[in-house]
Amino acid sequence: MPQHFDAIVLGVGGMGSAAVYQLARRGRRVLGLEQFDIPHALGSSHGISRIIRLAYYEHPSYVPLLRRAYELWRELEAGVGERLLHVTGSIDAGPADGRCFAGSLESCLLHDLPHEVLDGKHVNRRFPGYRLPDDHHAVLQPEGGYLLSERCIVAHVVAAQALGAVVHARERVLGWEPRGDGVRVETDRGTYEAERLVVTAGAWAGTLLPALRPLAVPERQVLGWLQPARPELFMPDRFPVFNLEVDEGRYYGLPIAEVPGFKIGRYHHLEEAVDPDRADRDCHPRDEAILREFAEKYFPDGAGPTMALRACLFTNTPDEHFILDLQPEYPQVVLASPCSGHGYKFCSVVGEILADLAIAGETDHDIGLFRLDRFASHAGPL
Ligand SMILES: Cc1cc2nc3c(=O)[nH]c(=O)nc-3n(C[C@H](O)[C@H](O)[C@H](O)COP(=O)(O)OP(=O)(O)OC[C@H]3O[C@@H](n4cnc5c(N)ncnc54)[C@H](O)[C@@H]3O)c2cc1C
Repeated sequence: MPQHFDAIVLGVGGMGSAAVYQLARRGRRVLGLEQFDIPHALGSSHGISRIIRLAYYEHPSYVPLLRRAYELWRELEAGVGERLLHVTGSIDAGPADGRCFAGSLESCLLHDLPHEVLDGKHVNRRFPGYRLPDDHHAVLQPEGGYLLSERCIVAHVVAAQALGAVVHARERVLGWEPRGDGVRVETDRGTYEAERLVVTAGAWAGTLLPALRPLAVPERQVLGWLQPARPELFMPDRFPVFNLEVDEGRYYGLPIAEVPGFKIGRYHHLEEAVDPDRADRDCHPRDEAILREFAEKYFPDGAGPTMALRACLFTNTPDEHFILDLQPEYPQVVLASPCSGHGYKFCSVVGEILADLAIAGETDHDIGLFRLDRFASHAGPL
């Protein structure tokens, strides 16, 4: 007889670990299934750290979710006795009419977030690791910072296990099928049944739900850590995390943490859509050159020897907003694709939303932006 659970969470990465925890916290008997190790370096959540920020140029309606995400990250920290969220302030900079600066400012004004508007010269004076063009504009929001993303996964899993959750690593889900109002899940080690299935498979979402393939497209990214000539300028107390829009593209960066280098990446790196099972996880001179050229121009005191490079996967939706919804045909299945390169900071609150959707079929959080039917013309039957 297959083992029976209230809920199965398929994929225990950033989002899945939070969903397992939130379901366990509400007394549900939950099974988390992860195909690799916990944590691992083949998905979307590795590379030590992720930016968290309240100012949100992607859309102002993310801000209320972010407030709750901050609360839940702090609760998790208190629960596991570990510092996971480090505040450095965040800079969103670029041309005055660019998406990063203008969008970030709009979100601050709309949601009454504390912030300062600075020009490039002022940013460079105040944070001497930066060398922004004089005529750039920047929003400095004091609550921005970074999360230790791999530690957060461990923390969510440990906290969930303490509440009775069952988590299996190195067990790949091969398929699922509806079974009455519930589901049956087959893995390479066994068969399980549950009332609900929460799919948090990251870059593999389209493998398990073929209709999601055009809506959740994996893309190879590369992160780089460079050793600064003046490391003191790149420490968390003097170097806010940044999103920066420049002629060369849109980049992000974080201060020195855990690796002896400051960290940078370029959104949509080489624009390489990939199959997650075949993606090139090696890093090459061409990958490094893109990051180094950017650092030499805008962070010249940071552009020393390369300390580390990592390949990682984005999973992009067509409008770069998340998918958080019930599967239309089988509402006992909850779908989550909260990435498009900016999802990590939301894991804590996404876990809460997914637990709401699994238990009640709805949530008090405003997830109107993330509904599947906005892509009605893209998707076939799910
Ligand atoms: C380079 C890079 C930089 C980023 N920077 C930021 C940032 O600064 N700030 C930010 O907020 N966001 C950032 N993001 C986005 C953020 O990291 C992602 O939104 C987040 O990691 C997605 O988490 P996830 O749980 O969906 O994916 P994952 O953490 O990859 O989890 C999915 C899990 O499902 C498992 N799985 C899949 N299929 C199966 C199966 N069949 N059986 C069992 N298990 C399965 C996978 O192995 C994986 O562990 C960045 C992403 C990348 C790649």
